[in-house]
Amino acid sequence: MKPAPFAYAKARSVDQAIELLGSAPGDAKLLAGGQSLMATLNMRLSAPKLLIDLNGIGGLSGIAINSGTIEIGAMTRHVEIERSDHIAQHAPLIALAMPHIGHAAIRNRGTFGGSIAFADPAAELPACLLALNGEVEIAGPKGKRTVKADDFFKGLFETALGPQDVLTAIRVPAASKDTRVGFAEFARRHGDYAMVGLAAAAHANGQALADVRLCYFGVGATPVRARKAEAVLAAGSLDDAVKALAADLDPPDDIQATGATRKHLAGVLLRRVARQLMEPRP
Ligand code: FAD
Repeated sequence: MKPAPFAYAKARSVDQAIELLGSAPGDAKLLAGGQSLMATLNMRLSAPKLLIDLNGIGGLSGIAINSGTIEIGAMTRHVEIERSDHIAQHAPLIALAMPHIGHAAIRNRGTFGGSIAFADPAAELPACLLALNGEVEIAGPKGKRTVKADDFFKGLFETALGPQDVLTAIRVPAASKDTRVGFAEFARRHGDYAMVGLAAAAHANGQALADVRLCYFGVGATPVRARKAEAVLAAGSLDDAVKALAADLDPPDDIQATGATRKHLAGVLLRRVARQLMEPRP
């Protein structure tokens, strides 16, 4: 199928993109890497009247480290992140997740900001952002604001972004010597969206773990923190943490798997990820 007809505008600044969004209220879409948007247009799941291309805006791409924080521009391509030494060293959870995102061709065009803004519940990066207790920077008609990851993902493909907002950057704390991370997912084939995945971060506290954040994806409408299991794992019992998932997660049945299968897989992934969390950073 081909998309419904639409007008196209190439924004030259974030302010211009915001103005263009205002010119077609509720009927305009931003175009980043196009790796999710073009599919929804082609399938006519979405039929905006105006497409606003972000690819001509300077300054929205790149990876920077400022006083203990990694800032990733919204238009930074997945491939740049995958190949970045800064990310490998200072944001190792994101580095672990990158090879699982689609295939090389998709990672060449897809952007970090596009993935966060699209908020597919089975996507890797929203769960990593949540696990890292990160935040997003948003520019809108009233200026810039920052939203914590815990408050950003609102529902199925629904975020704190308003109709005239542009996500401009993502920030996560740089890993310290004590930072521990773990990542695992179960997908039918490599590159498919995960049936269930887990992105996790913690701090080493002697032989124990503190500040544990276990963020599952593919188990609900948004990435889901397993808060009871987090507390139990920090208290030192992996078996009890796996049991606690029964109260934390309520995945739906769908064409790929039953909720019960997903719950079982969530426990298997927690055992794998817990092993990674116990390993000191190289
Ligand atoms: P686009 O497709 O351009 O935009 C997506 C949505 O976000 C649109 O609604 C757009 O308006 C909005 N948007 C984009 N940028 C901004 C911004 N800066 N501010 C506000 N709104 C914005 N992803 C995974 O995570 N895991 C996978 O396993 C995976 N597999 C894939 C397999 C295939 C075959 C394909 C085609 C895609 C797959 N993807 C997967 C999706 C891929 O990661 C996309 O790159 C990503 O979801 C969207 O990024 P994009 O830059 O392409 O955004």
